Amino acid sequence: MARRAVYAGSFDPITNGHLDIIRRGAALVEHLVVAVGHNPKKRYLLDVAQRRSLVERATAGLHNVSVVSFSGLLVSCVQAEGADMILRGLRPLGDFDLEFRNGLANRDLSGVETLFLLADPSQQFISSSLIKEIASHGGDVTPYVPEGVVGPLQEALRL
Ligand code: ADP
Repeated sequence: MARRAVYAGSFDPITNGHLDIIRRGAALVEHLVVAVGHNPKKRYLLDVAQRRSLVERATAGLHNVSVVSFSGLLVSCVQAEGADMILRGLRPLGDFDLEFRNGLANRDLSGVETLFLLADPSQQFISSSLIKEIASHGGDVTPYVPEGVVGPLQEALRL
């Protein structure tokens, strides 16, 4: 069955861990929508337009991937995109409890199933918050983020 899936997150900023899940997920479905979330209650380093444009740049070579931004319930975004599946990445330390709860809630709300891909061992420690922490102290995050991310990240940290 051809499937259309949504991979949502803050992507503040997109990391190579996210990109690995996007590549592997896109290989499993007909079309993958990457949904960049904007939650007014959350504080972001990069605004939604910047986060979205960095995801667009990183995924430009992937023919069956598109990028949108959204706010509100993830299942509403999934329905608006005509998708029937949520894609999530699972890292071994800390992701499971929250992802399990969210996955069950989303299925209960809408019937939409969640597909989990295990984080690649080489990417398991990578998170947007760790990248921001390293970069804020002058560390080199080039190995952990797609091309084009370091410049805007350093710029935002300087503000
Ligand atoms: P949020 O914290 O708002 O959910 P993130 O952008 O941090 O958004 O994460 C989005 C998704 O990407 C989640 O499913 C998360 O588990 C997954 N993810 C984040 N970092 C990695 C990584 N290094 N490897 C695999 N999956 C990851």
